[in-house]
Amino acid sequence: MEQFLVDEKLDIKSLNLEQLTEELKSRGEKAFRAKQCYEWMHKKLVRDVDEMSNLSKDFRQMFRDNYEFTSLKPVRVQESKIDGTRKFLFQLRDGNLVESVWMKYKHGNSVCISSQVGCRMGCRFCASTLDGLERNLMPSEMLDQIYAISVYTGERVSNVVVMGSGEPMDNYDNLLQFIHLLTDENGLNISARNVTVSTCGIVPKMRMLAKEHLQITLALSLHATTDEKRKKLMPIANKYSIAELMDACGFYMEQTGRRITFEYSLVGGQNDTDEDARELIALAKPLGCHVNLIPVNPINERDYVQSDEKHIQRFKNVLEKNRINVTIRREMGRDIDGACGQLRRSHMKQEECKEC
Ligand code: SAH
Repeated sequence: MEQFLVDEKLDIKSLNLEQLTEELKSRGEKAFRAKQCYEWMHKKLVRDVDEMSNLSKDFRQMFRDNYEFTSLKPVRVQESKIDGTRKFLFQLRDGNLVESVWMKYKHGNSVCISSQVGCRMGCRFCASTLDGLERNLMPSEMLDQIYAISVYTGERVSNVVVMGSGEPMDNYDNLLQFIHLLTDENGLNISARNVTVSTCGIVPKMRMLAKEHLQITLALSLHATTDEKRKKLMPIANKYSIAELMDACGFYMEQTGRRITFEYSLVGGQNDTDEDARELIALAKPLGCHVNLIPVNPINERDYVQSDEKHIQRFKNVLEKNRINVTIRREMGRDIDGACGQLRRSHMKQEECKEC
């Protein structure tokens, strides 16, 4: 369980029930204690050890002394007046900040979580990557974004998307543990089908994930249809070609029986022509992929522009005429700090200003 040590303490919320049982047994505790603790943490979502009311004072003290109990604190919450979307900025134990988004839909509430502090993938249009990678998030830190939001809003979360800051496949082991805990019947018991993981396309990890045979949805950030164009937007394209990516997608579908979604951010003048649409059809059709178009959300540090509405509709129509299943991701919470990583950045900048 070494992977779950933080500052020499075991990060207790990152353990699955089996590991927790083993850990508490090694301290002479009975197995049912582990079940009780697990439920307090992962089902009843307590924010503090003292809320575990059926456990003795001594036990709680032992728990506090020996373990790291992740409980994220919201330092800022922004609510959209347009659609009720809320963005949360959470502080981690070491002072790092991550952001998460809560979206209300007719079919249930969805939370978009971050998987890393910062990111090292360097996608040209993305704010999360501007300062590089700070560190990976522990499974508990991914989970607790959802737990804290459930408690804060008082509403059940039914869908989880790993589409916030960070590259989930660059934090693979913790991601896998997170998915197991999230979908565990002793915890929140979220259906794997309601979990989406988005990747910029780290081919070996996509293949590893395929072999796990999970029923989650995998979304691939494609954003361009030729290696040449993709390299201009995403440095990862220098490492893996589109041909390798498509092979990995085929393998994933074969292993899991699940369809893949292509995410395609429309950048004005870069990837939004009829030719791009036709090339995208050629990639999506053989695999039967769903395409999710995202009008690019311009960030201050870069000069990318959104495709105009006419181009977006035209692009969509070309795909639809060719019977590609396509949706446009309308940005939620347009009146609050836009794209991934922007809330964290704007908060950090304000804090810097306070200091000077
Ligand atoms: N690292 C993962 C998750 C990142 S964010 C990945 O690459 O998939 C989720 C999606 O938002 C990705 O498709 C990402 O490319 C896209 N994205 C990031 N910044 C954006 C922006 N400013 N405008 C539009 N889409 C953006």
